[in-house]
Amino acid sequence: MERPFAPVPTAGAASPEALPGPLLRVVGAGLEVPLVTGGTIRYANLDYAASAPCLEAVADAVAAHLPWYASVHRGAGFASQVTTAAFDEARATVGRFVGARPGDAVVFTRNTTDALNLLEAVLPDDTTVVAFASEHHANLLPWRRRPNLCLPVPRTVDEALARAEAALASCHGRHKLLTVTGASNVTGELWPVAELGRIARRHGARLAVDAAQLAPHRPVDLEALGADYLALSGHKLYAPLGAGVLVGRSDWLDAAPPYLAGGGAVRHVTVEGTDWVRGPARHEAGTPNVLGAVALAAACRALGAVGQAAIAAHERALVERLVDGLRALGGVEVLSLWGPGHERIGVAAFRVAGWHHAELAAALGAEHGIGVRDGAFCAHPLVEALVARAATGSDGARGESRGSASRDGGAGGPCVAGAGSSPGAVRASLGVGSSAEDVDRLLAALGDLQRRGPRWSYRVDGGRVVPHPDPRPRPALL
Ligand code: PMP
Repeated sequence: MERPFAPVPTAGAASPEALPGPLLRVVGAGLEVPLVTGGTIRYANLDYAASAPCLEAVADAVAAHLPWYASVHRGAGFASQVTTAAFDEARATVGRFVGARPGDAVVFTRNTTDALNLLEAVLPDDTTVVAFASEHHANLLPWRRRPNLCLPVPRTVDEALARAEAALASCHGRHKLLTVTGASNVTGELWPVAELGRIARRHGARLAVDAAQLAPHRPVDLEALGADYLALSGHKLYAPLGAGVLVGRSDWLDAAPPYLAGGGAVRHVTVEGTDWVRGPARHEAGTPNVLGAVALAAACRALGAVGQAAIAAHERALVERLVDGLRALGGVEVLSLWGPGHERIGVAAFRVAGWHHAELAAALGAEHGIGVRDGAFCAHPLVEALVARAATGSDGARGESRGSASRDGGAGGPCVAGAGSSPGAVRASLGVGSSAEDVDRLLAALGDLQRRGPRWSYRVDGGRVVPHPDPRPRPALL
């Protein structure tokens, strides 16, 4: 059951008591963390875009299920039947949350990376994939195993639409897939998904949407977006138990060989042959992550109950406060694809003159108890282009690149942050558990660091900038 806090006022509210507080309760909201300078402070979690905290409603749902947790699918016991029903119900709930159409498959995966790799694995052989270089690596690298067109980072929405149109018109294969993120994990800016969907349809292409960042912040509806496929991760949707989904058209999924071969994906096996099932189970061999699915469904219900309009309003107020505050500090450049005024989810990446992003992030954590992320956010081509634009007004090579199939293209995954010379930024990101106080803490800490510099010493250790020495006691659980 979700427990909303006080109603959220609109952006720009004047009186201090009207400042936006959290919209929903999250586990760990009052967490105290140690500072290198001594004492503790409430953790200001501004790293939602990487992994969002667990909603209390999600933790409650998982705790309620745990006593009933038993084998799924083939268990004859009562608890097994309850667990199987919960898993099936979770599939239906997640499908409703993303507006799955009758006949669409909802396949549980580990995360968005896994979901997009699954989609790549089931594409018909003669599919050409069109993607922008600005995508997260999870929505960039899997397609390198296929004939693909990688479009340069567009400077305007109109350029993005024109490039997609021209690229799809130039593909003459039987099958085409256009794939795009719903919201940038670097700048937070929303992509014109519905317009790209119309362009894809005009050219007989299918559209896949990487909704890892969009789904926690804005309504996602396959029909309204004109999307054929949609991928998301539970851990970014306040359900950190390791489940994600690929939702979409079942024809390619049913025609392709199973993504994983093993139990649960088959109707019958003989010594010589295998009769694979159709439907989501075809690609979900092995024991599924039932509690991850239960958690993801609980998050969908909680977000649905509070309403996407309230979520968007809460976040708009906070992100406006954040971006305005960053700009007001001076010497801070907020990264943007399409300039001020373009709508963004609660994400802002920025660079501060005179600071290396890794040292700034380390100082915010160690001296101020603020959690942010730094580096290139698994979107190297985008960050490089945005940083080059800011420095020179140009992003270097502007042409599209054509790739042919290559099996060693690699898959999306975590990146190693370092204090090297590669371009990077600091990213602050927020969500339903965030408050104006979190944003103000960051702005005050940045102002302080700009004025006085770090109050501690730092060194590079294992590719990361860390406080040295680090006197902070580790919690007992470690
Ligand atoms: N796409 C986007 C836009 C993302 O932000 C991320 C995570 N940073 C991913 C894909 C990959 O998500 P996951 O690590 O959960 O697979």
